[in-house]
Amino acid sequence: MISAIILAGGKGKRMNSSISKQFIEIKGKPIIYYTIKKFNDNKKIDNIVVVLSQEEIEYFKENILKKYDLKVDKIVIGGAERQDSVYNGLKSLENTETDIVLIHDGARPFISDRIIEDGIKYASIYGACAPGVMPKDTIKIKEKNNFSIDTPNRETLVAIQTPQVFKFREILECHKKVKMDKVVVTDDTMVVERYGTKVYLYDGEYTNIKVTTPEDLILGEKLI
Ligand code: C5P
Repeated sequence: MISAIILAGGKGKRMNSSISKQFIEIKGKPIIYYTIKKFNDNKKIDNIVVVLSQEEIEYFKENILKKYDLKVDKIVIGGAERQDSVYNGLKSLENTETDIVLIHDGARPFISDRIIEDGIKYASIYGACAPGVMPKDTIKIKEKNNFSIDTPNRETLVAIQTPQVFKFREILECHKKVKMDKVVVTDDTMVVERYGTKVYLYDGEYTNIKVTTPEDLILGEKLI
């Protein structure tokens, strides 16, 4: 069974908006609608879990699921940090037949079927994979005082996107360890890397943006 966890439990502070960023509308429909619709329509996905903050669950049911006739299999309450939300999503799948899990940011509505399907393919082969693109800018490492200390070769850098896709039992076990070891991570590839799994990086798309700051909404209008 192939399951998708769609994360929508964050507030999106960088958006400076009163509503959570996944509920902001692009061309009249909320960001999270587009994201869920992509997974609803993809034939390879058997099971969808959406992670939300407790206080937004009722709003989500009424104003997203019912209104747009979307289908999700489970709604799970998120945690304080992204990694806590992922953990809750994974735990909710513990007693299912899930072999492969895709973990996707609800705030990435422009995900393509190709990225979803390549993720499933490479996770089945390698156990862990993530899409990424070469950064367009030169990336610097800086010191606390704002002076540059190094410039990594751009050819070796990849800006990682989601979905990050894994063999389910492996990511679940690694997340349990991370929780016990109280390690802070910003994404799920870091979770398996910590315990020695190599993550296969495949081609993402520049359009697979995470809607994060107000200018991303302008771009989003065009991308829809
Ligand atoms: O904050 P960031 O942009 O990294 O969030 C990425 C995704 O993780 C978003 O879709 C957000 O809703 C989700 N998230 C979550 N629970 C949190 C924080 C973020 O589900 N506590």
